[in-house]
Amino acid sequence: MTVLTRQDWERRAQALTVESRAFIDGRYQAALGGAVFDDLSPVDGRHLARVASCMAEDAEVAVQAARASFVRGDWAHQAPAQRKRVLIAFAELLLANAEELALLETLDMGKPIGDALGIDVPAAANAIRWSAEAIDKVYDEVAPTPRDQLGLVTREPVGVVAAIVPWNFPLMMACWKLGPALATGNSVILKPSEKSPLTAIRIAGLALEAGIPAGVFNVLPGYGHTVGQALALHADVDTLVFTGSTRIAKQLLVYAGESNMKRVWLEAGGKSPNIVFADAPDLVAAAEAAAAAIAFNQGEVCVAGSRLLVERSIKERFLALVAEALRAWAPGHALDPSTRVGALVDEGHLRTVLGFIEAGRAEGARLVSGGARALTETGGSYVTPTIFEGVDNAMRIAREEIFGPVLAVIEFEDEEEAVRIANDTPYGLAAAVWTRDISRAHRVARALRAGSVWVNQYDGGDMTAPFGGFKQSGNGRDKSLHAFDKYTELKATWIKL
Ligand code: NAD
Repeated sequence: MTVLTRQDWERRAQALTVESRAFIDGRYQAALGGAVFDDLSPVDGRHLARVASCMAEDAEVAVQAARASFVRGDWAHQAPAQRKRVLIAFAELLLANAEELALLETLDMGKPIGDALGIDVPAAANAIRWSAEAIDKVYDEVAPTPRDQLGLVTREPVGVVAAIVPWNFPLMMACWKLGPALATGNSVILKPSEKSPLTAIRIAGLALEAGIPAGVFNVLPGYGHTVGQALALHADVDTLVFTGSTRIAKQLLVYAGESNMKRVWLEAGGKSPNIVFADAPDLVAAAEAAAAAIAFNQGEVCVAGSRLLVERSIKERFLALVAEALRAWAPGHALDPSTRVGALVDEGHLRTVLGFIEAGRAEGARLVSGGARALTETGGSYVTPTIFEGVDNAMRIAREEIFGPVLAVIEFEDEEEAVRIANDTPYGLAAAVWTRDISRAHRVARALRAGSVWVNQYDGGDMTAPFGGFKQSGNGRDKSLHAFDKYTELKATWIKL
């Protein structure tokens, strides 16, 4: 494979045709009311597209199309092996169009092109493929009944699924939902973030090309408070799956209660602790992981290791190692293949992140490195990865999800204090512990109230294991066969023999 340079990507960006309409019932179409919104690139401020701004009336048409396709059984009634073939073809089309999808993703939300191409697109395709491969391998159950009864326990698709997703991994988050939702036979309406709608729009055409019938997969770009809300309140949406902030997650529960009690599955925010004990097996490796945990994807990661808890006896030495490791994560132009930290998603978010840095200073934390806007000459929204030490867990930078590359370093004295601080958060998405003491590793892993716990690593995992949160980080799980639970209803059928 030829390695593309920044100039190559620039040329491709110039030549790119961007589809920016909604996709409903197998056709690209403008929003019914004709509204559009401007999509600007955080990479350098360039204008990317005027994107269809869908409203309640578009949601209505899309829900009707999804419902009709479901009732007809266009997809749900296809043989499992056939749905598997189609979804695998869809995954292959994602990979065949990887460069275009990666470029759209980077231009739209600012992540480094190397990550978009090397991580996001392959992971998205894998989410579809993995779910597809499971379709004809998952069996239902026969209940242990008395001999005069036959009890069948079967799973059925829920029907119409609305998926509302964020902008930090637009394609990947969408595919974590689409894979199991489509694998289990549902019809889906995807609402991408208004900050990153382009890859979602593009893959709708690829899904059709792969053989997913019209109406089974629809994409409605637009704002949360318009089309997002309309989907969440809609009486004919059976299940709402969401990835995004805890604030909006709570709102969606209200909408479900106010409407049809649709099932609501939430993947929300995090403020994950990364706990380093003095007996960590390799402090350099731990420091490099701690730097990656806050700088990867500009810190715009739900499981970012944003609270670094360090045992007091090694604090000075370890902090120096982390600061050194973070130097390798200087921001660069997002279209440069060597860049590891790209642009924040937009100017508004850059201001939010700089505001948190200001709050850290004002509350008395000590700025160790970073803390400033970068690469202003590009016209993009870049910030230097930032470390604060002397952080108290009560400070805003330790409590609130910043969703940017801002690391809060907190000291602890012993295991009991480490666990107490780690769990002292409304969130419970992920946590890590570094120690060479196997008993301590297990003790702490058990004590941590989080959906993913890593030992002597940060951010491990793949499609084979469930992903999701305790507490206000959400409910239900993405990935693995556990994800299928969200998209199916259990039915008990009793037959008198
Ligand atoms: P957000 O909550 O602002 O928006 C998420 C989606 O919800 C967007 O599509 C938005 O348009 C929509 N939305 C907003 N208001 C709505 C409303 N009233 N009704 C219906 N839909 C509405 O989140 P964001 O800023 O896009 O993403 C960042 C957040 O996502 C962070 O909190 C991050 O932790 C979280 N996240 C979580 C996971 C996870 O798996 N737990 C993964 C990635 C991101």
